[in-house]
Amino acid sequence: MDDCLFCKIARGEIPSKKVFEDEEFFAFYDIAPKAPLHFLVIPKKHIANLMELESGDSDLVGRLIFMAQELARELGCGEKGARFVFNCKSDGGQTVDHVHLHVLGGRAMDWPPG
Ligand code: AMP
Ligand code: ZN
Repeated sequence: MDDCLFCKIARGEIPSKKVFEDEEFFAFYDIAPKAPLHFLVIPKKHIANLMELESGDSDLVGRLIFMAQELARELGCGEKGARFVFNCKSDGGQTVDHVHLHVLGGRAMDWPPG
């Protein structure tokens, strides 16, 4: 999508601190980290939010989650774990309308969320 922030980041039109990239996914550090480790994993395909997922996206989302797991392991969260979060639309606290999986690690997280 032409005017989507995360599509622009995935295309390299807006700079980011890249964690990983392949033909399907782009992972980068969050610009305002909420934990010692905080990165986002996005599909290069523009999907606005989780409510827009279609049945044909299920394999893509499965690979996205597995990609996040592998990166979290590589970045030191294998033993203690991490928080994996999809915010969705206004009540979910989503501010960027391109599906992204937050990975937060390096400290113990609170529950429930505020
Ligand atoms: P959400 O609130 O779930 O939509 O998350 C959007 C996330 O994107 C927030 O944690 C922001 O800090 C992060 N963010 C916004 N702009 C950028 C950017 N240019 N580079 C990296 N992360 C960003
Ligand atoms: Zn997009």
